[in-house]
Amino acid sequence: MAVSAHPYAEVVIDLPLPQPLTYRIGDSDALAEPGRCCVVGVGRRQSMGLCVARSAMAGVGEERLRPVRRWLDEVAPLGNDWLEFTRFAADYYQHPWGQVAVAALPPFLRALPGPRWAAAVARLRTAAPEAAAQAPAPVLPPLNDEQRAAAEAVMATAGFAPFLLHGVTGSGKTEVYLAAIEHLLAADPRAQALLLVPEIGLTPQLQSRLRARFPGEPIACLHSGLADAERSAAWLAAHEGRARIVLGTRLAVFASLPRLRLIVVDEEHDPSYKAGDGVRYSARDLAVKRAQMLGIPVVLGSATPALESWAQAMRGRYRLLRLPRRATEAAQPQVEMIDLGQHKPTSGLTEPLRTAIAETVARGEQALVFINRRGYAPVVACEACGWLSACPRCAVYAAYHKSDGALHCHHCGWHSRVPRACPTCGNQNLQAVGQGTQRIEEALAGALPGARILRIDRDSTRRRGAADAALAAVHEGATDVLVGTQMIAKGHDFQRVTLVGIVNADAQLVSHDFRAPERLFSTIVQVAGRAGRSGLPSRLLVQTRFPEHPLFAALRRFDYEGFARSQLAERQAAGMPPYRPQALLTAQARTLQAALDFLAHARALGRALDVEATLYDPVPMPLERLAGVFRAQMLAEAPRRSALQGFLRAWLARLREAEPPRGPRVRWQIEVDPLEI
Ligand code: ADP
Ligand code: ZN
Ligand code: ZN
Repeated sequence: MAVSAHPYAEVVIDLPLPQPLTYRIGDSDALAEPGRCCVVGVGRRQSMGLCVARSAMAGVGEERLRPVRRWLDEVAPLGNDWLEFTRFAADYYQHPWGQVAVAALPPFLRALPGPRWAAAVARLRTAAPEAAAQAPAPVLPPLNDEQRAAAEAVMATAGFAPFLLHGVTGSGKTEVYLAAIEHLLAADPRAQALLLVPEIGLTPQLQSRLRARFPGEPIACLHSGLADAERSAAWLAAHEGRARIVLGTRLAVFASLPRLRLIVVDEEHDPSYKAGDGVRYSARDLAVKRAQMLGIPVVLGSATPALESWAQAMRGRYRLLRLPRRATEAAQPQVEMIDLGQHKPTSGLTEPLRTAIAETVARGEQALVFINRRGYAPVVACEACGWLSACPRCAVYAAYHKSDGALHCHHCGWHSRVPRACPTCGNQNLQAVGQGTQRIEEALAGALPGARILRIDRDSTRRRGAADAALAAVHEGATDVLVGTQMIAKGHDFQRVTLVGIVNADAQLVSHDFRAPERLFSTIVQVAGRAGRSGLPSRLLVQTRFPEHPLFAALRRFDYEGFARSQLAERQAAGMPPYRPQALLTAQARTLQAALDFLAHARALGRALDVEATLYDPVPMPLERLAGVFRAQMLAEAPRRSALQGFLRAWLARLREAEPPRGPRVRWQIEVDPLEI
């Protein structure tokens, strides 16, 4: 392409700008091409940029355009497919392209290059990721019939093919992914595979499984827990095709993979795939889109698929692959409800649960007690006047942690010593009300003298390496009873756990969030999946005030499909996702009124547009005040996705142009397909 025909570069940067910026390309800039990183002047500063196109026309003000200051030739340009993919994500989530694309680049491509940049890049190239030494290959169990059918279905595809692999916990889903990856890498020496997992905590385990399975093959790991240099080196290895297997958390969906031929999303239902700040993308949904754009297969795997994915499978848009039984001889645990109306708990534990734990420990087996709340008690109360411990900066209670004798806010991190006496009436007899992991740990220690009890939650694992050490203790059998939060629910292959107790399931049963039952069902199935993996008979005990609830009836039979059918029927009748797509506009301000006023203003602008969208009333968010900032939200809905997208584009453009209402400054954000409302 002659430079003179397209003398301008369209460059995106990591700033909230609606359009790429235009720069001049000098005659000598042979490097100027889409996908190339560059340094540009923006205002008085310099910034890293990414060229997304060359253009012939600069429009007005041509003479004022600045030249690109520097093109970075040390790194090959990003591919066109990658640029298109990030542009899709930006459009879909209503976010500036640069804040998606440049923000997705690794640390070394986001900081301005210093004098030794070229040497630093060369060093990244020689750094990780290493391959495991070539070992006499590991002995693999042959795939069973269902696994083989699933793997073959994936391997046999050409072009875009989305699969939903619905397999009970321990059914051998991972083996199916590995078989498909193995086939791919053998068939095409340059092909790349992307494997996504929901949590950093799940990467070491899978990484070692991959290393054992693919000796000699470098595995690039991408997640936010890595040091900058490690992450940059892994990114570069993927970008340059040196790593053919990339394992990562949600941010890895944006990795540059020039020869990507297969995507796997493990535990696809997991809410961690949804980003909580910046561009609120769903890595699962983007993985499917990326596969579609590339014309390759994508496998979504779960024991409890997201209802969105299940609905797609029921409509025939995703091909359903089933692994209905565990791969080993292990049976699923027997499920029983403990009626809290009949059995009064002390310190959170009922008599039947205590007894079951004691029996398990006496047999030399392990018990796992799950409670989704850390700390000792969620609140401290004065029974004389009704005072309750609250975070001064958030609209929530402050939890009591016995380990440091302090009140903690689990939302903003505020903490303070527990007052000696009630701050309102002076009563010295304050009570810790309800249970957290610390109190359950204490109660178990009292009930089971001599038993080795281990607590795993965010507090107990703050030190680097503490979580791995704790999990190792469970695997080695150095623990009799494990108490923990979500952290122990996922993925772990504990061999000697034969009893799982769920302390309190009811908070989620009576939640205002329409997704709460779906989440509760999947959490319990995940936790239950830790039981009986070695083949010993196992039990799942759930303490609840509602033992007859239909959710528990489905759980007793591990009937995900029946549960999904009834939930989807309810959602369809009520006009909720996945039948009606949603977006959520949130506003944050120093006063609640300012946030609500802003949303009312936004609603007026939206209603003036002639489109098929519904805007609901602005309301305070469930967590109305966070770290001193008031928050409000407004839900937008449309009958179809295309209608919602069209509406959002027009509406947000109006909102950005229009004069905001008078009053305190308001920050706002849009979230497409919100998970929490
Ligand atoms: P999932 O990902 O569905 O939870 P995994 O792939 O982790 O299941 O497999 C669960 C356990 O079953 C693992 O210990 C694995 O080694 C074993 N396993 C998987 N497939 C087979 C098979 N075909 N035969 C015997 N054991 C298997
Ligand atoms: Zn009081
Ligand atoms: Zn707080």
